[in-house]
Amino acid sequence: DTVVVLFDRDLRVHDHPALAAACEEARQVVPLFVVDPAMPEGPRRGFLAECLADLRGSLRERGGELAIRRGDPVAEAMRLAGELSAQAVFTGLDVGSPARRRQRRLARECANARMEFRGFPGVTIVPPGALRPSGGGDHYRVFTPYWRAWSRHRRRQVLKAPGMVVVPGGLDPGPLPVPGHRPHELFRGGETVGRRRARQWLRHCVADYADGHDDLAGNRTSKLSPYLRFGCVSPLELESLAEDGDAFVRQLCWRDFFHQVTEAFPRIDRDDYRPRGHDWHDDRDAAQAWKEGMTGIPIVDAGVRQLLAEGWMHNRARMIVASFLVKRLRVDWRIGAEFFSERLLDGDVANNHGNWQWVAGTGNDTRPNRTVNHLRQARRFDPDGEYVRRYVPELAAVPPNAVHEPWRSPVGVGGYPAPLVTTD
Ligand code: FAD
Repeated sequence: DTVVVLFDRDLRVHDHPALAAACEEARQVVPLFVVDPAMPEGPRRGFLAECLADLRGSLRERGGELAIRRGDPVAEAMRLAGELSAQAVFTGLDVGSPARRRQRRLARECANARMEFRGFPGVTIVPPGALRPSGGGDHYRVFTPYWRAWSRHRRRQVLKAPGMVVVPGGLDPGPLPVPGHRPHELFRGGETVGRRRARQWLRHCVADYADGHDDLAGNRTSKLSPYLRFGCVSPLELESLAEDGDAFVRQLCWRDFFHQVTEAFPRIDRDDYRPRGHDWHDDRDAAQAWKEGMTGIPIVDAGVRQLLAEGWMHNRARMIVASFLVKRLRVDWRIGAEFFSERLLDGDVANNHGNWQWVAGTGNDTRPNRTVNHLRQARRFDPDGEYVRRYVPELAAVPPNAVHEPWRSPVGVGGYPAPLVTTD
């Protein structure tokens, strides 16, 4: 018998529940990825192409193959399953409206074709929906009680990569997508790179995370987010290896937290989770300056320019930059979230829109009116201005005590704009 395994945000062979089950239960397994032709050209597409090349290589090493098709994942999975007279389609389960619609359609089409459909959790450590607050409700709205319940929850076993993958003879592999852009050299896609990075991080750096993670100029966070986003690295396996890494594991829990919020509220990318009647300013010029890293506020511009250059931004900078847009410029969080999700290698609905709503005060923050003072944050987390100078070269000559407020600087700032707003 034959099982098609439809990959999506789980581009790995280690700890892959659907692949492991298929290899154990079926004689022949057909790993499949369907490229969405509508995916915009850009670094994320380049990262995906590298992930697929790596996954194909790992499957071939095990005697298998990765079939690649283009189009609608449901239609392509059903077409291939039909051609190969497969008995079942297995896939990983994900959250958010499009993913859930796709899973429902796939289940329906399988039922119509009298094929088995099976969905496997695996995108998070604890499956969304597995934990329910004792006071009622279908998900946790507040992080700390979730963290407590999450820490106590029993984990499934971390699964080994299959030793062998047997594909049906004559399977057409299909071409790898050819990306127009490669991602920044800091982030090469794929499980092989992701596992290497995870190993190095866990061995040498994780113990310093609690002290160092807010240091904007230092590279003291894992930078594993793109690998988690595409599932090159299993969060469960990462957690299981993270000794001395409580502070780091807590961040993985934030990731799970936003996934379980998104499972319960799949319209998180569009609708306010907690509507509070905001009156957003339709200030397109300000939003445009923000998107270009030209607000004249160095800490904000440095963050955005890091994103434009690398496809990634430090978490502390994300908070400052997002808060500046929604709380200071009073621009709708959806505009910022949309921009982030186009540019971030790690951009995904649960984490991106969940965090944006958190910052905007429409999400899960228990103190929705909190404001982030960008100047104070800049002085605290980039005390020497090293981060700002790295991404805003116009300020290279500005002395350290003025680098966060160049409008007070005695030296010229070579074309750098005057600040959009001056008070904090
Ligand atoms: P580390 O600090 O090493 O943390 C390890 C992992 O924990 C991360 O890779 C990530 O998977 C998870 N994590 C850490 N912080 C958070 C958090 N606040 N929420 C959820 N998960 C977290 N993260 C994304 O993965 N995708 C996004 O699209 C995204 N958008 C964001 C938008 C805003 C406005 C803000 C404030 C945060 C956003 N984050 C997002 C969360 C966080 O900034 C990144 O996960 C983190 O900076 C990634 O870098 P790292 O891998 O070095 O993280």
